Amino acid sequence: MRRKLVAGNWKMNGSLAANAALLAEIKAGMAAVAVCDVALCAPAPYFAQCQAELAGSAIALGGQDVSAHAAGAYTGEIAVSMLQDFACRYVIVGHSERRAYHAETDELVAQKALRALQAGVTPIVCVGETLGEREAGQTDTVVGRQLQAVLNVLEAGQVSEIVVAYEPVWAIGTGKTATPQMAQDVHMALRAKLAEKNSAAAVEVRILYGGSMKPENAVELLAMPDIDGGLIGGAALKAADFLAIVAAA
Ligand code: 13P
Repeated sequence: MRRKLVAGNWKMNGSLAANAALLAEIKAGMAAVAVCDVALCAPAPYFAQCQAELAGSAIALGGQDVSAHAAGAYTGEIAVSMLQDFACRYVIVGHSERRAYHAETDELVAQKALRALQAGVTPIVCVGETLGEREAGQTDTVVGRQLQAVLNVLEAGQVSEIVVAYEPVWAIGTGKTATPQMAQDVHMALRAKLAEKNSAAAVEVRILYGGSMKPENAVELLAMPDIDGGLIGGAALKAADFLAIVAAA
């Protein structure tokens, strides 16, 4: 049975003061609700703060991006060894905001996922279609292509070590959520794609849903058989909302 994972993606939000308040509230509320894995993907400048605050808690720290390179002259990039210095267990790769605003290709995302995996940091591989692609009936083709690029660089034995996040671009930050059935259909297609590479591993891989997930829709989404958790943006910045989603998982 797959253990659910609820991961917050703070994106480019926060401050020392705001993080301290948010982390205190989340930690205080966690014990009562958490029966699933929980992670927070914070901006890198706050890793030290988050690591200290989360020490001894059941909440894992994650990054929002990682370089495909090990080290060197790559100004502004973050090496996986740096994530590890702050005990990051997860890192998001291929978020649609990075694909769109930083021109990240499927191949680059795959290299990032591989770099993380090889270091023992779990990549949360994001895939998702735009509204135009959905309306053109290309959803499965697009997310299949995005996932396949990652599978191409993995050994079959590594498939069980990734997390996949289905985030329809049109649902991110828009208040529009995929219906549970729409999401389930894509998650099932993604699991079938994973199974082509390694059928035993496909059953173990957690596939998260992301895109305007909030307490009001989390229960229904998380009840679907192939939805194994959530990648939460806006609602992860409010402790009460984030805790309610954790409780629903
Ligand atoms: P929202 O929950 O704000 O729609 O963001 C989803 C997301 O992009 C998480 O990575």
